Amino acid sequence: MKKMLSYLCFLLVFLPNFALFPSNVVYAKSDAKMVIIIDDFGSWDQSGVETMLSIDAPLTCAVMPCVDNTEKNVEDIKKANKEVILHMPMEAFVRLPLNWYGEFFIGNYDSKDAVFQKLDRALESVKGATGFNIHIGSGVCQNREVVGYIYDYAKAHSLTFVDSRTHINTVCEQVAAEKGLPYFGRDEFLEPEGNKSYEGVKSHLLNAAKIAKEKGVSIAIGHVGSHGGENTARAIKDTIGEIRKMGVEIVPLSSLK
Ligand SMILES: [Zn+2]
Repeated sequence: MKKMLSYLCFLLVFLPNFALFPSNVVYAKSDAKMVIIIDDFGSWDQSGVETMLSIDAPLTCAVMPCVDNTEKNVEDIKKANKEVILHMPMEAFVRLPLNWYGEFFIGNYDSKDAVFQKLDRALESVKGATGFNIHIGSGVCQNREVVGYIYDYAKAHSLTFVDSRTHINTVCEQVAAEKGLPYFGRDEFLEPEGNKSYEGVKSHLLNAAKIAKEKGVSIAIGHVGSHGGENTARAIKDTIGEIRKMGVEIVPLSSLK
């Protein structure tokens, strides 16, 4: 009984300080965080761009370097108060039409100098990027050496690199661990295998929110332009409320640092 009473006293004295009335916090913030990255900004196909930028959430917008609308979209994104990252083209493990990559890309067998020069050039056109992820890249992400150069560059420039996981055999997680760097990998594509239906995007978003609840953090990737566009933007706009109700906070990529 005595023990019980002293436990109750402890609760009454300490709980209000730590749990019931935490200092400086009006509403308790959720522990579950979700990053929504939108790829393919900058491209000639601008479908979904306007709707995407009107969404009231801190989306992370990945812009392709040195293409038709790179500079314009970087400005639009900043005006909309959203985060800019670089959507860096990298080579596939199969031969693809060159124009799918944009102006240039990191090749499967590039040297360290070549990787550094290409990232320098890309970041000059995507001003203010806080990090970068992968456009295509199913070959590069399997090459330990090239992935190593990419992490070296990210570290040297304090940029967050996201492994878009465009191939199941990606080695990025292993290489990051070997270098003692944090690993950020895509958990969910919003339009996998070209399925860009409104309902499909919604269900992948909610799945990413569930992963955030389980793991603490999740990263979802969707698209503007031909791989997503208006459907993806509308589905995100309509699902944000539900995600927040689940207790998941949408955060920009840089907040994971
Ligand atoms: Zn892309």
